[in-house]
Amino acid sequence: MRSPRDSLNRLRQVVEDLVELEWYMTNYIDLHTHSTASDGIYSPTELLHKAREIGLRVLALTDHDTSGGLEEAAQAARTLDIELIPGIELNTDVSGGEVHVLGYFPEFQRPEFQAVLKVLRDARERRGERMVELLNEQGVNISWERVREIAQGSVGRPHVAKALMEAGYVQTIGEAFDKYIGNGCYAYVPRYKLTPEDAVHLIASANGLPVIAHPLELPGLDELRNWLPGLCEAGMVGLETYYGLYTPENERELLALAHEYNLIPTGGSDFHGPGMHPTPLGGRYVPFEAVERLKAEAAKRRGKTPPPFKLPPPVQEK
Ligand SMILES: [Zn+2]
Ligand SMILES: [Zn+2]
Repeated sequence: MRSPRDSLNRLRQVVEDLVELEWYMTNYIDLHTHSTASDGIYSPTELLHKAREIGLRVLALTDHDTSGGLEEAAQAARTLDIELIPGIELNTDVSGGEVHVLGYFPEFQRPEFQAVLKVLRDARERRGERMVELLNEQGVNISWERVREIAQGSVGRPHVAKALMEAGYVQTIGEAFDKYIGNGCYAYVPRYKLTPEDAVHLIASANGLPVIAHPLELPGLDELRNWLPGLCEAGMVGLETYYGLYTPENERELLALAHEYNLIPTGGSDFHGPGMHPTPLGGRYVPFEAVERLKAEAAKRRGKTPPPFKLPPPVQEK
């Protein structure tokens, strides 16, 4: 038979677990999510309703290259009594793929910040469409729909050139580049590539807090060790540690690095909508301390004159 002391100890353990669970449930947070403002499925309002349903206390909206969903999200958050952390996620190009940098609490109304984001968005996602707009403005009539049909996937300059040929404006692809869409022509839209350091500087230029996102995808743990001194020098303040399917072992390694470099360990689901990502909204444990530390850091910067950001020159193309 179990001794009274054993029973008491077991009961004590259950109570402690319950207290911890209750604390967790009342301080339930997700610091990495997307809405229809970038590539998520739910509108900001719908996302906040989902957050309410599962009982999140704090949600950060971190759409790619845009703060377009933040005002709507803030309004929904107020109605639903959820604390919204404004955020953004910037894509950067490194050899081998993309590294993502999150930014928390950027002062996103800053016109200089918005102007750079727009250039980056146009250059990345809307490049083909923007070229067609510029051509149309000059009376060259090719349609964006036709260009997309020709491309059957992601649109590049050759697809725009083919549409120009089809419409009889040029005889060859080369002529389309020379006359319309080559570097220096009026319908040329430059391509920009940011390095992770550029992204850190861009976020800092709006008094935001740069955090390296899902670092195990890229750069990967070994590269990350090499990169951290430079990134911290540039102004990185956090490291996404509690993420998606990261194992407890991954988490320990990242936590150790965060401590070593005095970075705030953050985390979240990277929720884009059902079926788009393995982790559901709120599906990753993130300690509430992350919110407190981010807020304390943001408070130090608010209202201060941030360091200016200069977009690096576009990639040289023909
Ligand atoms: Zn990402
Ligand atoms: Zn993301």
